[in-house]
Amino acid sequence: ERRAAANAPITPGALADGTKVQLLANIGGVKDTAKAVELGAEGVGLFRTEFLFLDSKSAPTVQQQKEQYAAVLKAFPGKKVVVRALDAGADKPLSFLNDSEEENPALGLRGLRVLRTHEDILREQLTALAEAAAETEAELWVMAPMVSEPEESEYFTALARELGIKVPGVMVEVPSAALLASQILKSADFVSIGTNDLTQYTLAADRLLGTVAAFQDPWHPAVLKLVAEVGRAGAAAGKSVGICGEAAADPALAVVLVGLGAKSLSMTPAALADVRAELLTVTLEQAQARAAAALTAGSAAAARAAAATA
Ligand code: PEP
Ligand code: MG
Repeated sequence: ERRAAANAPITPGALADGTKVQLLANIGGVKDTAKAVELGAEGVGLFRTEFLFLDSKSAPTVQQQKEQYAAVLKAFPGKKVVVRALDAGADKPLSFLNDSEEENPALGLRGLRVLRTHEDILREQLTALAEAAAETEAELWVMAPMVSEPEESEYFTALARELGIKVPGVMVEVPSAALLASQILKSADFVSIGTNDLTQYTLAADRLLGTVAAFQDPWHPAVLKLVAEVGRAGAAAGKSVGICGEAAADPALAVVLVGLGAKSLSMTPAALADVRAELLTVTLEQAQARAAAALTAGSAAAARAAAATA
């Protein structure tokens, strides 16, 4: 079946009834763009910019960043490219931003929280992105990581707009942000759910810790309930809800996520063919039925089984 999916024609993401589901790529830089285009990504749903900063003792200059961003954007003329502002901390520590003395860095100053304490770095990154977008044909969207309440979305989106970003949004990867998604969507133009962190924070299980790895399962109905809440909020606000965590790369779970209201799925390009093929086997009504079945389960394993038989 895997081979069949790989050989199937590359079409835009859609369900059997024609409902569109944008299929996007997760990338870490310009080195990943050729594969994404070749495998039919309709754009980028998550550009993790940390990789540009990882090896440095300080942030790259605006000019250096602008060159890197422009090179990525140029690979997607006329397409959406969602760039994530620097997500430093926890599993992605940066020496010049993070305090290595924190006892629980996943619960500490990471993502937008640490950018707010170094606003110069955030301003420089947003400026470089706006300047790069002005030179290319891609449609640039920019989102903040690790947002936990509406005020943080108001802060980020206002600053991004001030610096020339046309479509600012936020990631939903903390349960509080999922529960308050409708308020967040008053300032954010879109939300993208990061299921890796959303699972970690919902199940209170460190994503880097092997002893609790069994809890790091995005099929968990508690995670799916939060996704459903965000899906409802997005539909009510008429704004885009995407998924950019690993969950989107699991074909059966991708169907459930669409049933819960996701309009786009972003994944490692290698997963696009299988997800594309699976989506074409169900109508929106069937996807919603699988989602409803998964939501009634009491564990990740039970949710998987319930969706499979719905
Ligand atoms: C996530 O948390 O699901 C996500 C997409 O971001 P990262 O894995 O880079 O934290
Ligand atoms: Mg994350």
